Amino acid sequence: MYKIPIAKPFFGNEEIENLTTCVQSTWVSSAGKFIDEFEKNFAHYCGTKYAISTSNGTTALHLAVMALGIGPGDEVLVPSLTFVSCANVIVYVGAKPVFVDIDRASWTIDPDEIEKHISRRSKAILAVHLYGYPAEMDKIKKIAKRHNLFLIEDAAEAHGAEYEGKKVGGLGDIGCFSFYGNKIITTGEGGMVTLNNRKIFDKIVLQKNHGTTGKKRYWHSVVGYNYRMTNMQAALGVAQLRQIDRFLERRKEIDMLYRKLLLGIAGIILPPANTKKRKGVCWQFSMRIENKTFGMSRNQLITFLKRKSIETRPFFISLHKLPMYKMKNNFPHSDVISQEGISLPTSMHLSNKEIIYIVHSIKEAQRPKKT
Ligand SMILES: *Cc1c(COP(=O)(O)O)cnc(C)c1O
Repeated sequence: MYKIPIAKPFFGNEEIENLTTCVQSTWVSSAGKFIDEFEKNFAHYCGTKYAISTSNGTTALHLAVMALGIGPGDEVLVPSLTFVSCANVIVYVGAKPVFVDIDRASWTIDPDEIEKHISRRSKAILAVHLYGYPAEMDKIKKIAKRHNLFLIEDAAEAHGAEYEGKKVGGLGDIGCFSFYGNKIITTGEGGMVTLNNRKIFDKIVLQKNHGTTGKKRYWHSVVGYNYRMTNMQAALGVAQLRQIDRFLERRKEIDMLYRKLLLGIAGIILPPANTKKRKGVCWQFSMRIENKTFGMSRNQLITFLKRKSIETRPFFISLHKLPMYKMKNNFPHSDVISQEGISLPTSMHLSNKEIIYIVHSIKEAQRPKKT
């Protein structure tokens, strides 16, 4: 529909070859060599002992929350600006999401705000590496330790991002990934849980597999789920993971070109910059439009670019604004960034010429021609 879509998966020959091999082998369900290979390679990539494939990113998060024994009466601290499933999975287990404002500069959960929301019921912190930018994990880890809380990472948007030289997904107790079609690597639908703890590993494998270890036929020890990935998805995943360095390299070029061309335009606030500690990845190049200075609101800019067949995306709506999580509390940074944030096209198919055209169009929007 759009000439320049916001996202578009990139597939090479290996994806087709692996899929063909998979179909010809007839191993199309959730057992097969690609599953084992994808899990092994993904754990290696993240620097964790284990990786467990799942049917999607939301089921990965649900399994993580379940395996940590979080349930009714418990609270989990989550940023107020993130994808809705972060809060939903907490509700799935009967616990309560407690929202914490984000930091205006990094767009991720504000470590200085976390402690204000900790109570006797707090069980875990869910840190989200939003739009590819790692949360302030050193501070968050200290808080988690001080208050005896579990630390879960949502790295759905940040494949390959690093904090203090370590890959995300291996920084807390459990890491969760999504391989939805617009993520950095994709399996169509799909997800992964990364971790180092054997006991938690066993729990997650049990829960995702109908509550059975498979040792004794039809012996189910808990009420489990079917949250398995298929061998076909993993066939894609194996091929995608092999290209991740190249994907990230090109995305870095895209990020740098956008930043260079957008720098200095009044009313545009560029995304968080990397620091010594935080090495973000460019999932979807995202920035803020300051209505007054830019002369047009974020939503107006989306409509303007749509007419030029450029697809963009507004930021998530703060979770405390959604009907099921509605509350009076104020999360000022979250609200401002949610209202001003816009993501621009970012994919392996995007050319430098198109980036120049997109930025040109944004500049045109800023000073609309008088008629
Ligand atoms: C995509 C995403 C998810 C959910 O992943 P699905 O695979 O779509 O279930 C969770 N958290 C964040 C931050 C995401 O961007």
